[in-house]
Amino acid sequence: MDFSASPRAADLTARVAAFIAEEVDPVEEGYHRDLAEQRRSGDPWQPLPVLEELKAKARARGLWNLFLPAEHAGEYAARFGTDGGQGLTNVDYAPIAELTGRSAIAPLVLNCNAPDTGNMEVLLRYGSEQQRTEWLEPLLDGKIRSAFTMTEPGVASSDATNMEATAIVDGDEMVINGRKWWSTGVGHPDCRIFVFMGLTDPDADRHHRHSMVLVPRDTPGVKIERMLNTMGLYDEPLGHGEVSFTDVRVPLTNVISGPGMAFEIAQGRLGPGRIHHCMRLVGLAEKALELACTRALSRAAFGKPIANLGGNRERIADARIAIDSARLLVLNAAWKLDVGGPLNALSEVSQIKVAVPNMAQQVIDLAIQLHGGGGLSDDFPLAGAWTQARALRLADGPDEVHRGVIARLELGKHGARR
Ligand SMILES: Cc1cc2nc3c(=O)[nH]c(=O)nc-3n(C[C@H](O)[C@H](O)[C@H](O)COP(=O)(O)OP(=O)(O)OC[C@H]3O[C@@H](n4cnc5c(N)ncnc54)[C@H](O)[C@@H]3O)c2cc1C
Repeated sequence: MDFSASPRAADLTARVAAFIAEEVDPVEEGYHRDLAEQRRSGDPWQPLPVLEELKAKARARGLWNLFLPAEHAGEYAARFGTDGGQGLTNVDYAPIAELTGRSAIAPLVLNCNAPDTGNMEVLLRYGSEQQRTEWLEPLLDGKIRSAFTMTEPGVASSDATNMEATAIVDGDEMVINGRKWWSTGVGHPDCRIFVFMGLTDPDADRHHRHSMVLVPRDTPGVKIERMLNTMGLYDEPLGHGEVSFTDVRVPLTNVISGPGMAFEIAQGRLGPGRIHHCMRLVGLAEKALELACTRALSRAAFGKPIANLGGNRERIADARIAIDSARLLVLNAAWKLDVGGPLNALSEVSQIKVAVPNMAQQVIDLAIQLHGGGGLSDDFPLAGAWTQARALRLADGPDEVHRGVIARLELGKHGARR
């Protein structure tokens, strides 16, 4: 195992830390205040101007598209502003993603946010030249945003082979019908392209029935039915939507990698996407522990700092152990991905997808408890952080499904069949 950062990654990590300290931290509290005000009196889906200002500053410093993977970045890293003109390995990207995860806006500002990063990776790895020119380049340029529409309200979507929405070949077109929900990103006014996953051939084997199709948002028949909230939060400016598709027609050239290839592409997409979520969550847990310690030392009850009451010191120690253990697990998964690709890290990626959101949820919960009633209010970023960690126990696959993968691989070593 080698978790050491390359000199270039160490330099970029230090520069991202400086950028966040100098440009993001000073405006973040005000950003949330302004967003709350916009929710009361305006259109909450209009991104606040400060986001574009910060994007321009990040880009000017070369801190842009740092998620681009070493093996697929090609010339794009140079053309679209990543300093050094190359992609990073997963081990190199981990500390950078962790830093961005401490902030609700930093991933967006550095053009490193989900689901755009996953969609860009799909286009990088599997897109045709035409698809990359039309959609990948403006995404890398930060000019448009995207959504990934897989989950359906009508079926248990943790088993993706259940998907019923259809993508049927008709001559040189694809005809799309069905309903999706939890499509992250569709609330953003710049969200122009959906990666749609639908059933093409019910008679093919389970893993070759579905296709991934690029559907421009403004195609006739596409309708955003509503925006969903996660425990009361709408996660503006991206949000999560329910989208209906009624006789939507797109050219056959919009199919990614050809009909029936959705599952193969999904494997490639979800490995890096899941690891990025976990890297950011380690950062969020770290931030929560910092807030917890500061609060526990600065307030007193029953004549003592809160840190010294009850079992709080032990709880803080346990939180430190949990964060550091989770970080090592994430680095291990990153290293396995780097040396052998997604199939080499199936168990490790599922392990972190279970361990890290659960760890973050517990650490943030401790921080909320130590803040008392204030911890549940939006005077502190903790309630939103807890909801984010909780949601990630479902998004990109529920805990149980990932435990199932780990157990299958473990039992497989001892001769068990699926
Ligand atoms: C904030 C957020 C953002 C999301 N973003 C996106 C997105 O951008 N695009 C997208 O397509 N989807 C997105 N999702 C959807 C997410 O991926 C699904 O909710 C998830 O895959 C589960 O599918 P489901 O909701 O249909 O639950 P179901 O499949 O109905 O499962 C419900 C429960 O059944 C149990 N269960 C299921 N399988 C097993 C098993 N094998 N063993 C034991 N128990 C099991 C689990 O407890 C599970 O939570 C998002 C979800 C959230 C909350």
